[in-house]
Amino acid sequence: MCGIVGYIGKKNAIKVALEGIKRLEYRGYDSSGIVGFHSDLSHPFLKKSVGKIASLEEKLSSIPNASCAIAHTRWATHGEPTVANAHPHHCCNKRIFVVHNGIIENHEFLKGVLSREGHKFISATDTEVLAHLIERGLGLGSLEDTVRDALRHVTGTFGIAVIDSQNPHVLVAARRGSPLLVGVGNDEYFVASDAAAVVNHTKKVIYLNDNEMVVLTPDGFDIFDFSKKKLNKTIDTIDWDIEESKKGGFEHFMQKEIFEAPQVVKNTIGGRIVYKDGEVKLGGLEPVEERLYNVNRFVIVACGTSYYAALVGKYLFEEYARVPVEVEHASEFRYHSLPLDKNTAVIAISQSGETADTLEAIKEAKRKGLLTLGIVNVVGSTIAREVHAGVYNHAGPEIAVASTKAFISQLVVLALMAVYIGRMRLLTSEQAKVILADMLALPDKIVKILKQDAQIKAMAGRYKKFPNFLYLGRKYSWPVALEGALKLKEISYVHAEGYPAGEMKHGPIAVIDKDFPSVVIALRDSVYDKTLSNMQEIKARRGKIIAICENGDKETGNHADDVIFVPKVTEAISPILSVIPLQLFAYHMAIARGADVDKPRNLAKSVTVE
Ligand code: GLU
Repeated sequence: MCGIVGYIGKKNAIKVALEGIKRLEYRGYDSSGIVGFHSDLSHPFLKKSVGKIASLEEKLSSIPNASCAIAHTRWATHGEPTVANAHPHHCCNKRIFVVHNGIIENHEFLKGVLSREGHKFISATDTEVLAHLIERGLGLGSLEDTVRDALRHVTGTFGIAVIDSQNPHVLVAARRGSPLLVGVGNDEYFVASDAAAVVNHTKKVIYLNDNEMVVLTPDGFDIFDFSKKKLNKTIDTIDWDIEESKKGGFEHFMQKEIFEAPQVVKNTIGGRIVYKDGEVKLGGLEPVEERLYNVNRFVIVACGTSYYAALVGKYLFEEYARVPVEVEHASEFRYHSLPLDKNTAVIAISQSGETADTLEAIKEAKRKGLLTLGIVNVVGSTIAREVHAGVYNHAGPEIAVASTKAFISQLVVLALMAVYIGRMRLLTSEQAKVILADMLALPDKIVKILKQDAQIKAMAGRYKKFPNFLYLGRKYSWPVALEGALKLKEISYVHAEGYPAGEMKHGPIAVIDKDFPSVVIALRDSVYDKTLSNMQEIKARRGKIIAICENGDKETGNHADDVIFVPKVTEAISPILSVIPLQLFAYHMAIARGADVDKPRNLAKSVTVE
């Protein structure tokens, strides 16, 4: 959450930093700001604005030349989205400027101390204390020493970039708990919350770990830990291209990402299925293969959409690997006394690999000595580095705030892992081949679903006026119902609840009437008859039904007002298909209701605060 960019080099730093935060806008967009210096400039060039970055750009009709700049796109935690609360924040005499991602948890205390010393605060943010803390230490050493010293007083999380208008040739950045990377160009250097901000300038990046800081100058960079020890870190290469983070002819990133699903499935499977042997190869898990043999229980920790993928994962692992699985909201994992023993493994699912709650859950699992595994999309992200082993999604950059293609790829990875772990146990090659053959056929089947886009759009037009929806599904389709409801809530602000279909009669049925439609995933699977009964219960109460049915199913549609068909597939991987119409429905509902699909209100991608 929140995007930070810093630049030092020969290009116009303000332009580069501005362009960078535009690419990070999906991380936060309630307000933004930028500051730049140049030795020729008498004052720092500081501009801030409320709302999306376009409103900041409007204020930047003439951009002065600058050799060093920092910029920020905010997702407010402390203080409303106002110009005063927008970053960069500065100290009393406008010398030190700071952009920050995270939460300074002891900011009230620090503000009290600094105010008594005479520092004047002009914002309601937690961040501003950093600028004053650094100001207090000025003159005692280099900017780097002063920042390091200031951070000693801070509790909480931060990814920060700091510049000093009296020393425009130095940019200092540091992290604890919030993502930060260094972009290494030719005579130009960057810091950024994620690679999307730098990939059009350089593909060489260094990921900072917690309690590390970097000092950038026009001539190079040095990385230190907080005890001043110089570090020699490896330079990673970004393996995707700037084109992948553009809309590529689609109207919205979300639409583009839904339509990427066939390719995403191919990429996620890519070389991992050895069909003739009924085997799955997961190189990322090989180093822990021996430990995996002894695992007798998995706990999956995740948030939001990833949590719903985890629920599918539970059923998959239990069916194919015959191992018990619990799924935990990552934000709750640390706060209850879940009995864990050394043969429990904890799996973290996170698209960004930076989700703060999931990261903390993984750290807790490691403290307890458990094996930790990751299912992560962003290569080199913090969770990917923190876990003992893992499997990358290879879904490519996901920019839309509402996750679609990452969810699909998470389901594919979970199915691959279920077979991989199953084959270490009782799952036979022949049994594995059944699901693996169906997995290989998924991309073509998804193409067929996507062809119904116009029909789903027309359907959204008919349903756009309804303020409430119930989503129902049983067994593997239950998490799909939850995810379908979440998508609708997230981007169209229509209230929607997902329920296991069998639970409907235990409460939710009370809300059903002719104005409360239900979306029912009613596939011809092992629970079909029971789901059909639930549909009849809704109809008996005059509720409208949108049904997701299997191709060729003539009967189920008789009990529904609208039907979307998906191809038949092994039940355990049916969510990969049945969720796609629900993603498209949410997308078209949001458009029909005039919502900003890619930047839904109050949300931001990659939740890096707890
Ligand atoms: N806590 C800071 C604020 O509310 C930073 C939030 C962010 O990460 O965007 O301004």
